[in-house]
Amino acid sequence: MFKELIFLFLFSHVAAGRWGKLCRGNPTNRVRGTDSYGSGAYGAPRDNGRHLGVDVICKEGSVIYAPFNGKLIRRANPYNNGNEIDNGVMLRGSGLCVKIFNFRPDRYSGQISKGQRLGTLLNVQAVFPEITSHVHIEMCDTSINPTPNL
Ligand SMILES: [Zn+2]
Repeated sequence: MFKELIFLFLFSHVAAGRWGKLCRGNPTNRVRGTDSYGSGAYGAPRDNGRHLGVDVICKEGSVIYAPFNGKLIRRANPYNNGNEIDNGVMLRGSGLCVKIFNFRPDRYSGQISKGQRLGTLLNVQAVFPEITSHVHIEMCDTSINPTPNL
């Protein structure tokens, strides 16, 4: 019984695998480097603490894809202030829960497959002029670094 459980555990992780590309035009999920707003890396310093997700470079209007198989849970707003990029979604599946921000989701509920279209990137530079445009992804438990999944 124990061996079977170990096998299932390993297999489920292999099956989940690495995340697919998040943004059309960035097939390797390249992370935003340092610009005048700081770094897009997880844990990078911010005025009010630390950057709790990772920023994947993406241009305004680019198609955003589901990084793994799962279920859209609800809308998730990064700022809760109604600014131009205050939109996103919570996605749960494949043993993970993430929030993806700065884009306009096509929908906020239902099953979705890895690589399937989630929506399009909003105008990040409208809020942060000249920032490296990006989609932000974080674990629902922000103490976990999502970067190894990219
Ligand atoms: Zn970010």
